[in-house]
Amino acid sequence: MIKLHDKFFKPYLKEEQILAAIDKMAKEIAADYKDETPLFVGVLNGAFMFVADFLKAYQHPCEVSFVRLSSYQGLTSTGIVETLLDVPDEMEGKSVIILEDVVDTGRTLKQLVHLFNNTNVKEFKIGTLFYKSDVYNGEYTIDYVGLEIPDHFIVGYGLDYNELGRNLREVYQLNQTDMINLVLFGKPGAGKGTQAGFLKEKYNLKHISTGDVFRYNIKNGTELGNLAKSYIDKGDLVPDEVTIDMLKAEVEKNPDAAGFIFDGFPRTAAQAEALDNFLESKDMKVNATIALEAEDDILVERLLERGKSSGRSDDQDETKIRNRFDEYNEKTAPLKAYYEEQGKFHSVNGIGEIDEITKRLSKVIDSL
Ligand code: AMP
Repeated sequence: MIKLHDKFFKPYLKEEQILAAIDKMAKEIAADYKDETPLFVGVLNGAFMFVADFLKAYQHPCEVSFVRLSSYQGLTSTGIVETLLDVPDEMEGKSVIILEDVVDTGRTLKQLVHLFNNTNVKEFKIGTLFYKSDVYNGEYTIDYVGLEIPDHFIVGYGLDYNELGRNLREVYQLNQTDMINLVLFGKPGAGKGTQAGFLKEKYNLKHISTGDVFRYNIKNGTELGNLAKSYIDKGDLVPDEVTIDMLKAEVEKNPDAAGFIFDGFPRTAAQAEALDNFLESKDMKVNATIALEAEDDILVERLLERGKSSGRSDDQDETKIRNRFDEYNEKTAPLKAYYEEQGKFHSVNGIGEIDEITKRLSKVIDSL
């Protein structure tokens, strides 16, 4: 496994497999063109390594040139293809064979065909080392293919992830572990925030605490903050519509996350249903809901202690704390049944040493 920027990639194609595919392509093209002097046009940047090895395998008269296009940003094709280096001059009457590193959606091809349509070449063919037939739009015929591959994000052998990985001799594929989305459940003071801090590191998850997002907005005097403040100060729940929209926006901000820890959300039946529907629309789901259990008296003690240093007004007054427990018992506790019905509810003893509790939580997560 290798790491490029923030992502892990696993070996996919060995150098010999790639070179064998190139050799096969060179033979096919030679059968059609060895009696002419074709012009091979490599598509930069990705095809530089392929073109070099291809030319070593194609030992017949030929010319070579390059065009430069760009359409990838990060892991997805942006759809906008820019021409950075235009077609070579002097192509009149020549047989041109495009050498692409990879054809996927076909957007880059469209641009290439457009570029060459305005020239007076004799013939125009397309060859690609890698071909993702599942996602190709089929607009133009691909004349020569090295290897047909599934729609995986690949790097190496000229292909990059945000410019890294081009110099790898082999091809690697993005290691897509299944997403884990956790709901941390429990009364105020149960230790959700503390445990989420450890779990997000251990499992590479994005931690979303709705309470933290509200406090951040209050501190910065945003419209959302002003709206939420009166509820939070009393220990009441902020209305569902506001909280649900905010939660969605937080998830949308992290499209590359390997998973989420939802801390303090959902707190009502409407929120739980909204979360399920929202995740489903993104082909995601809640994998587990883990409740940290502790008795009220211990929690009140913890919260009052926290209130001394955190400055949180809702942690400094026992009446407000008890009101938060009432809100929990009335609106949040029924969610236990909601998740039990889905077979996703797990309960963990929230009393003990912090690292001991992390171990209890990890045991549940590792069993998923
Ligand atoms: P917390 O930090 O999770 O204890 O949240 C502090 C306060 O923020 C709560 O008492 C509520 O007023 C508000 N809040 C946080 N999450 C939610 C939620 N999911 N729904 C409604 N209000 C929330």
